[in-house]
Amino acid sequence: MLYEIDFLPVGEGEQSGDAICLRYSLDQGTNWSVGVIDGGAQESGESLCKHIDKYYNTKIIDFLVCTHPDQDHASGLSCVLENLTVKKVLMHCPWDYVDSICDYVSDGRVTKESLKNRLIEGHPYAYKVYELANEKNVPIFHAFSDSQDHNIPCLLIAGPSSTFYLQQLINFKSITDVTEDIDKGYGLLKGAMEAVKKAVNWIAETWDDEKLVDPEDDATSSENNSGIILQFDFDGKKILLTGDCGVPALAQSADYIVSQGIELQQFSFIQVPHHGSKRNIGPTILNRLLSPPIAQEVEPNFTAFISATKMENPKHPNKRVVNAFIRRGGKVIATQGSTKCHHSNGTPDRGWSKAEPLPFYSEVEEDNND
Ligand SMILES: [Zn+2]
Repeated sequence: MLYEIDFLPVGEGEQSGDAICLRYSLDQGTNWSVGVIDGGAQESGESLCKHIDKYYNTKIIDFLVCTHPDQDHASGLSCVLENLTVKKVLMHCPWDYVDSICDYVSDGRVTKESLKNRLIEGHPYAYKVYELANEKNVPIFHAFSDSQDHNIPCLLIAGPSSTFYLQQLINFKSITDVTEDIDKGYGLLKGAMEAVKKAVNWIAETWDDEKLVDPEDDATSSENNSGIILQFDFDGKKILLTGDCGVPALAQSADYIVSQGIELQQFSFIQVPHHGSKRNIGPTILNRLLSPPIAQEVEPNFTAFISATKMENPKHPNKRVVNAFIRRGGKVIATQGSTKCHHSNGTPDRGWSKAEPLPFYSEVEEDNND
């Protein structure tokens, strides 16, 4: 079976984002399924359109996925919907779930209408995707593991379940703090810039002495944990795409995968969640999903991609996280300014050179913050 998974670079500065496309063929290249998973910022949306035209030679997208409504994932998707023919959209539409959550979030003063407006105004980029899909009559599939009615070959929605999703949704900032949400884009940027300015202290780490620790359950946002987790099975090669999900979401997906009679620890490709942040991953979940640490001399047995900013340092990707994946048998590759492709044998030769994997770092960030 043929497949190509492309991670495009997002952003030049401190902020990371995801812009991923893939295509796969069950008949040796006669017919292809083409997907887009998150669109990064506006410019990355344009790059995705060009990339798909140039390397996939098509203007038709079989499925477009918006994993979660944050700007660095949802913003560029509008451009794809505007310029290419999209056949289906997989996303969550928080403004459609008001009836399910109003009893849990209302303090008596909030009407359903105002709650709905908060959810629309708080997530303008995802709402734009929703509006464009409706305008163009593209069907939207609410991507929950308990409703696998998307009919996309090789794809299993590994998470979230609808129940887990609603538990995250009631803690979205657009509900808990509407004013903070309006400033969110700026706030994120400011936070990242402060992280850059702060001097980084380094400590030694060895193969046998892991410094990565399990993060608290609320270490990453509910928006991140609400994200869609996708598993593709390409003729036995298992691919796991994790968006910005944190440990609770990954654990819930692991439970679901096992409940479907699928073994964990068999992935040939995994996306390192949340641009390599230390808040989203810990030894316990990695031991379960991938494997416990292996001996240092053993060859890597899976590939891990990170969508991370070009800037050296500050927090994406975190070196403890990179080491944790390498220690469990991963060959770790980061976008860091250029498109990286993971593909099966037999796909068209692009004349690209092999991507250089990240090394095992003997020094990691001392700081326990992100
Ligand atoms: Zn992100």
